[in-house]
Amino acid sequence: MTAADIKETISLLAVPKKIVIIPHKNPDGDAMGSTLALCTYLNKKGHQATVVAPNEYPHFLKWLPREEATVIYSKEEDKAKQLIQDAEVIFTLDFNHFSRTGHLEPLLKAATASFIMIDHHQQPDDYALVTYSDTSMSSTCEMVYHFIDALNDTDLIDAGMASCLYTGIMTDTGSFRFKSTTAKTHKVIARLIEQGADNTDIHQRIYDTNSYTKLQLLGVALKNLRVLPEYRTAYITMTQKELDDHSFQKGDTEGFVNYGLSLDGIIFAVIFIENKADGIIKMSLRSKGDFSVNDVARTHYEGGGHINAAGGKSDLNMEDTIAQFISILPNYKAMLSI
Ligand code: 5GP
Ligand code: MN
Repeated sequence: MTAADIKETISLLAVPKKIVIIPHKNPDGDAMGSTLALCTYLNKKGHQATVVAPNEYPHFLKWLPREEATVIYSKEEDKAKQLIQDAEVIFTLDFNHFSRTGHLEPLLKAATASFIMIDHHQQPDDYALVTYSDTSMSSTCEMVYHFIDALNDTDLIDAGMASCLYTGIMTDTGSFRFKSTTAKTHKVIARLIEQGADNTDIHQRIYDTNSYTKLQLLGVALKNLRVLPEYRTAYITMTQKELDDHSFQKGDTEGFVNYGLSLDGIIFAVIFIENKADGIIKMSLRSKGDFSVNDVARTHYEGGGHINAAGGKSDLNMEDTIAQFISILPNYKAMLSI
């Protein structure tokens, strides 16, 4: 954060405020961990803070300290609307433009509050009074730690907050292995463990709570894996029927795309997941090295994200989506071919 941003933040938070904290739609570990930790921090500072999520988050995050106080717009529309209307300050965390919040977008556009953005995605929009954007950061959770540090308040981080922040750093770095994991990230992690985050317990709660049907669904995903060696690309398809046949729950397909990327020689992996209710194919894109899936998602799939992890969507059916996907690969031949 710049000195000017810190000063602006301190003056904005100098007296108790009504505050709302917003994660992106389909919140992941980083989005929920960062919003919940920040919420506890702001409440400790005397503010009336609430997390308002656009929609449900996965069951493997349902243990996060204080998650039960989250207001979920898709379940409690009126309450969420009122909170956003009444807010004096709105923090937006782990996303870079309002469209990432789904049905909350018009409410955020109409809000009279001052905005503070904390985010690590590429190309942030310019809607906030304070924009703390750093694309080199491992996670928004790491940024929330630095935010609290900039306000000289790391002593206020309790075990619950530390667990939330640890969770988001762990999930967004693929358990500390992606390039964005720096020595600084590990120093933050060390502090969080000192302040009460139980690393073994958190790993188990996130990664060792699979249902049998989820593992069977993974089996289907691996059967559906296709490889295009000439483009060092692999992709997985999941139809709505395959999801339905395995009692799909939100979050069950998280991480599946990484199996494509784990193949020897593969640098670009995609999973296509059919969502009949929304009439779209949701895509997760991953890469290794300099090949930017943020560019691919922005150019072709109304999405975006980071260089090595992005998301997007297709309005075509599965068959046509795959055909269209294969048709664009020659555009990236120079980057993808050996
Ligand atoms: P995932 O594939 O795990 O859903 O998301 C990977 C990354 O891309 C995350 O940082 C996520 O926030 C971002 N992302 C996912 N879907 C979209 C999308 O539709 N639009 C944009 N701009 N970013 C997305
Ligand atoms: Mn993130």
